Amino acid sequence: MTKRIFRSIFLVAMAVFAASVLLFSIMLYNYFSDVRQEQLRVQTELAAKAVAAEGVAYFDDLDAREYRITLIAPDGKVIFDSRSDTGEMENHLEREEIREALENAFGESSRYSVTLMERALYCAEKLPDGSVLRMSVSQNTLLTLLFGMSQPLAAIILIAVALSMFLAYRLSKQIVKPLNSLNLDDPLSNEQYDELAPLLHRIDSQQRQIKKQADELRKRQEEFAAVTENMAEGIVVLGTSGEILSINPAAARLFDASGDVVGQHMLTLNRSPEVSDLLSAMEKGSHAEKFLDLKGRKFQLDISPVSDGEKVSGGVLLILDVTEKERAEQLRREFTANVSHELKTPLQTISGAAELLKNGLVKEPDKQKFYARIHGESQRMISLVEDIIRLSHLDEGAKGMPRERVDLFKLAKETVKQLQPEAEAAKIALEVSGEATEIDGIPQLLNSIIYNLIDNSIKYNHEGGQVAVSVKNADNRAILAVEDTGIGIPKEHQERIFERFYRVDKSRSKALGGTGLGLSIVKHAAMIHGARIEVESEVGKGTRVEVDFPKE
Ligand code: ADP
Repeated sequence: MTKRIFRSIFLVAMAVFAASVLLFSIMLYNYFSDVRQEQLRVQTELAAKAVAAEGVAYFDDLDAREYRITLIAPDGKVIFDSRSDTGEMENHLEREEIREALENAFGESSRYSVTLMERALYCAEKLPDGSVLRMSVSQNTLLTLLFGMSQPLAAIILIAVALSMFLAYRLSKQIVKPLNSLNLDDPLSNEQYDELAPLLHRIDSQQRQIKKQADELRKRQEEFAAVTENMAEGIVVLGTSGEILSINPAAARLFDASGDVVGQHMLTLNRSPEVSDLLSAMEKGSHAEKFLDLKGRKFQLDISPVSDGEKVSGGVLLILDVTEKERAEQLRREFTANVSHELKTPLQTISGAAELLKNGLVKEPDKQKFYARIHGESQRMISLVEDIIRLSHLDEGAKGMPRERVDLFKLAKETVKQLQPEAEAAKIALEVSGEATEIDGIPQLLNSIIYNLIDNSIKYNHEGGQVAVSVKNADNRAILAVEDTGIGIPKEHQERIFERFYRVDKSRSKALGGTGLGLSIVKHAAMIHGARIEVESEVGKGTRVEVDFPKE
């Protein structure tokens, strides 16, 4: 801007200067022309008077200096000329000033010479004898004048250029200085130029608008950060070419991103083919899904492209931990396979026995044994199906089962009473001790826990063994313990007995009518009550299972 102002001022100054020089020269030239013309007139008059008085003798020894004097006879013939030989001179009647003088006693004219560098002024006066005296003097033209003044003119031009440049420089600086010192943070506080007021008002209103938009943007960003920061799922917002625009802490932890990774390419965090495939899909504008194993866990990576109109402007990468889901899926598949297998065995037994009976291949005394087997196997199937139904109900969080205050001791006593015949049949001494202990719980599930634990203690016991059930209060908790003097559980199996269909000794469990689901039901029911289970067992000595319930 300074340069433009400087150039403009300089050009204006130079134009004014050039125009002034030209106009001044023209005026001077005109003035001097007039003076010279006037002098010529006076000289002509004087000379005419002298010639009229003295005749041609006047011209003798006359020093006319720069003037040229010509005497022309009334017929136009040149009688005398101070410069040329009269004999060679042509008739002068046609000359403008002569013609005028012959007509009006006085005539004037001017003519440019061939080169245009000189101009001749003529004055003619008619003498009383009819002849005409003409005087002429040459005068420089404007061009010659300027040419003659070229040296001082050049000096003046130089000074003018230097002065104009200096002034233009100072002026442009002075004009721009207030503009440079404008306080744009507070545009309305500036008072330098009135002409700038509309612009400053505009800047002020735009600044306020920008600030409003920036605040809005910051608020949205904070909201987004607040939402994504506490999410367990990883979220990475990507730019068009896969550069990271934003990453939440969960994703940063997962990809071990240390420091600020915003601006880096996604592949610098993870170079796996899965991530690379997802980025390619995003660039093509399509949604894609991949699974990735990271840090011993399984993740589902989901990419959704973001497009403005037709062009893809980035994408959102969502990372979900699907380890538990996968494990549950795996368990479900195993469970289905196990259920089918568990059901197939008794069904085959039933079907085989029934076929033999149908074909009359069983002797009469053996028939009872076959009926009993069919009955036993179908009972097993029934209890298996019942356990499966119970488990699937528990899997769904025991919906529709209301909680109520339950006295655990009372419930234990009832269950012991229920199982007493079984204990007696197995020659096991079953006793219950403790105190009234109320908890918030679902009676059917609590019953399942106590029933299954006592049932196991009877089943996996020795003849003449003991089972002791106790219920007691401890701080804010209720502790149910079932202790037996049975066969015990080897250390390596203790962790797994709560798995579905897991049995230490499959044939013994089956022989005793076990389904392999009892402890799974116990574990689930305890979980629903927020209870902890602890198993202490020694092979040959016995087992103690303790369930620790929170009272509220
Ligand atoms: P099951 O129907 O076979 O009894 P459970 O889930 O109740 O199934 O128990 C799983 C396995 O744990 C049993 O098969 C048995 O081997 C072992 N077990 C459970 N309770 C006891 C116990 N009190 N003493 C010894 N072994 C036990």
